[in-house]
Amino acid sequence: MAWLTIDTERCIGCEACLEACLYGALALEGGIAVVNERCTACGACLPVCPVEALSLPRQAALRAEDAASPEEARGVWVWVEQFQGRAVSLSWEMMGVGRRLADALQVPLTACVFGHNVRDVAREAIAYGADRVFWADDATLAAYRTAPYAHLLVALAREHRPEILLLGASARGRDLAGAVATQLHTGLTADCTALDIEAQTRRLIQTRPAYGGNIMATIVTPNHRPQMATVRHRVFEVPTPNGERTGEIIPVTMRLLAEEEIATKVLDFLPASEEVNLAEARIIVSGGAGVGGPEGFAVLRELANVLGAALGASRAAVDAGWIPYAHQVGQTGRTVRPDLYIACGISGAVQHRAGMGTSKVIVAINKDPEAPIFDIATYGIVGDLFEIVPALTAHLRRRLGH
Ligand SMILES: Cc1cc2nc3c(=O)[nH]c(=O)nc-3n(C[C@H](O)[C@H](O)[C@H](O)COP(=O)(O)OP(=O)(O)OC[C@H]3O[C@@H](n4cnc5c(N)ncnc54)[C@H](O)[C@@H]3O)c2cc1C
Repeated sequence: MAWLTIDTERCIGCEACLEACLYGALALEGGIAVVNERCTACGACLPVCPVEALSLPRQAALRAEDAASPEEARGVWVWVEQFQGRAVSLSWEMMGVGRRLADALQVPLTACVFGHNVRDVAREAIAYGADRVFWADDATLAAYRTAPYAHLLVALAREHRPEILLLGASARGRDLAGAVATQLHTGLTADCTALDIEAQTRRLIQTRPAYGGNIMATIVTPNHRPQMATVRHRVFEVPTPNGERTGEIIPVTMRLLAEEEIATKVLDFLPASEEVNLAEARIIVSGGAGVGGPEGFAVLRELANVLGAALGASRAAVDAGWIPYAHQVGQTGRTVRPDLYIACGISGAVQHRAGMGTSKVIVAINKDPEAPIFDIATYGIVGDLFEIVPALTAHLRRRLGH
C-alpha cells in the first residue's frame, strides 16, 4: 500500500509531481497521476502540486500519534551514555555540539541521564552545557538495555517534543537511536561528521560520508521530529566543563518498564579479548599493507610501546588477517583524533582518511613519494618503514629514557 493519496478529481495531469519524485514512484495514466510501491512518503511531491491533489494521510496520522510536527517541536536533546555510573566522554562531545545547535536555534539544551545512582552524571551534564536534565534513576536502568531505555526516551520525546535528538554512535547509542527513531516514526542519520542549523527553516543539516566515502551527503529530515543523528567518538571536541554553570535537574516521574517486562537480563560484563582503545589514545602508530605481513607489525609495536601509543591499522592489513578488526581505523573502522598519528606503509585512501584525517599531527612514512597520505601529513618521511621505524624507535627510546 502506497503512502501517497492522489485526489483524482483534482489532479490535472500536469506532471509536476513526476518531476519532483526522486524515486520514480509517480506516473501518468489516462491523464491522471498514479503512485507505485516505490513511494517512500518523502513528501517532495506535495508542495509542487498546483491543485493540492496529493496528501500523506497515513503519515499525518502517525505524526499526530508519535512524532511532533516541525512547527511545534522545540529544543535540542542529548542522550548521555553512562557505564557503571560514569558518563562516557563521547556524551560530552555530543553535549558540545548540542550546545552550539541550541544556541543557534535559541532554545534550551536538555540532557537525558538514565541509570542508577547517576545524580552526579546529571550535575556533570550541566557543567558540560545542559540547561536542564531529565534524570531517571532506577535499578532497572543501571545497565543499558534497549527496552527500558527506548521506552523512556520515546515517552519523554512524545511528551516534550524536541526538535533535535543527538546520541553518540557507540554500540549502545546506535542501538538506542534505531529503536527510538523507529518508534517515533522519524528519520535518523548515523555517523554524522558535521551538524549545522539552516537558519531560515530551523532544519538540522546532517553531513556524513556516502558511497564508500567518495562523496559527502547532506541529509535533512524535513517532515518529522525529532531530527535524530548519531556522531562517532572524536569527531567533535569535548567542551571544557564549567562547574559554575547552573541548570535544572528534573527527576523523571513517568512509568518505567518493570523488571518483569524486560526480556533481557545483564548477567556480567567481560572485558574485550584484546585491549584496544583507539578512540581514547593520544598517540597512534598505524600500519598498512606496507608492513608486508603480521610479523611486520612487530616494529610498529616497539615504537608504540616506547611512545605509550595504541596500535592502529588500515583495512588492507585487517582484511589480510594480519591484525584484528578492533585496530582498524577508517570509515568502516574506528574514527580517531589523536594528538599524533603515525601512518606507516599506508597509502592514504579516502576511506582511511575518513577515520584519522582530523588527527592533530600526522606523520606519514611511505616509500612512494606520490602516496596520497602525504597530502594530509604534517610531516612526511619518504623511505622504507623497516629502516625508518626502528631508527625512530631507537632515537625516541634514548630521548625518552626508556
Ligand atoms: C566501503 C569501503 C570502506 C572502507 N573502509 C576502510 C577503512 O575503514 N579503513 C581503511 O584503512 N580502508 C578502508 N577501505 C579500503 C581503502 O579503500 C584502501 O583499500 C585501504 O585503506 C588501503 O590500505 P593501505 O593503505 O594499507 O594499502 P595500500 O593502498 O596497498 O598502500 C600500501 C602503502 O604502503 C606503501 N609501502 C609498501 N611497502 C612499504 C615499505 N616497506 N615502507 C614504506 N611504505 C611502504 C606503499 O607505497 C603504499 O602506499 C574501505 C574501502 C571501501 C570500498
